[in-house]
Amino acid sequence: MDDLRFGTRNKRGDWTPSEAIKTAPLFVWPPQPFNFLKWLPSYFLPWNVVFMALGAIYWFWLTPSVETMRTLSIGWIVYLLVRNMAAVLLIHGALELRLYVRRRQGTSFKYNSKWPAESPSGVFMFKSQNIDNMIRTFGTGVPIWTAYEVLGLWCYSNGHGPWTTFAQHPVWLICLGLVIPLFHEFHFYCIHRLIHVPVLYKYVHSVHHNSVNPSPWSSLSMHPIEHLLYWSDSLIHLVLPSHPLLLLYHLHVTGTGAVVGHVGFDKVVFSADSAIDTHAFTHYLHHKYFEVNYADGVIPLDKLFGTWHDGGKAGQALMDARYEAKVARVNARN
Ligand SMILES: [Zn+2]
Ligand SMILES: [Zn+2]
Repeated sequence: MDDLRFGTRNKRGDWTPSEAIKTAPLFVWPPQPFNFLKWLPSYFLPWNVVFMALGAIYWFWLTPSVETMRTLSIGWIVYLLVRNMAAVLLIHGALELRLYVRRRQGTSFKYNSKWPAESPSGVFMFKSQNIDNMIRTFGTGVPIWTAYEVLGLWCYSNGHGPWTTFAQHPVWLICLGLVIPLFHEFHFYCIHRLIHVPVLYKYVHSVHHNSVNPSPWSSLSMHPIEHLLYWSDSLIHLVLPSHPLLLLYHLHVTGTGAVVGHVGFDKVVFSADSAIDTHAFTHYLHHKYFEVNYADGVIPLDKLFGTWHDGGKAGQALMDARYEAKVARVNARN
């Protein structure tokens, strides 16, 4: 598939999509029903459907019985940890293997023409972005993901969470399932703005931003405090009437969903005429420019607070103007 049909490549070899990113026609006034219907399939396909399927597979086949989870014991907790590590190894690892190790599509649709493995840097453990990213993912990321899962499932098993069933409240649970990705984005925007406060950025969030040229392993490469904040949106299932299936789906939206934004390619190409859109450009720009696109544009929070970068000339002009205003403010103070 010729990526120059969809974008341009600069002298360095970095590829940029020719179309600017649009925010979803969801929170707009006046409403845009036609655009909304046109956009709607992309809300589900393919990623949210994948996360829903993973949540269902987890609940129906890969989660111990309620009787087992009533008591906190090392056996089922370690089982959940190993099961989550295997899922991450399989999903994140498969993307990394295909795109970055075997380089099956070369730099086609790749935003940054450089390969992280070829740029050793002292900011990473063992000077390797990949090794550093994997140590953080498996060392604290997946254990903290599992800890939230254990907490939620143990509470549900002991009647502490407001567990309702699809037979009792089908409409409520379906609606909750539909808005989980939106709630995740809103929560992520809030914690993300918080950890960009200079002191928290310096000691916590800079760990994630060390990967300026992210790859799938960068997605969960965070400081443990960021991991704790990142998955805390799942606590909503202990407050609102919900179901363990939705809790597991939500944890995948957060945990597995992260990989999508860090894949580094605009499309994963399968053949000359088939490819999957990653929608990764929004978050790639955050890694490139740091102070834009704190969220992913499904909820237009960045537009509202003036930090939206659409990847085109308009976004660049907006960012430059904000930077100049910041410099002027600093100069006025000195
Ligand atoms: Zn990131
Ligand atoms: Zn950030």
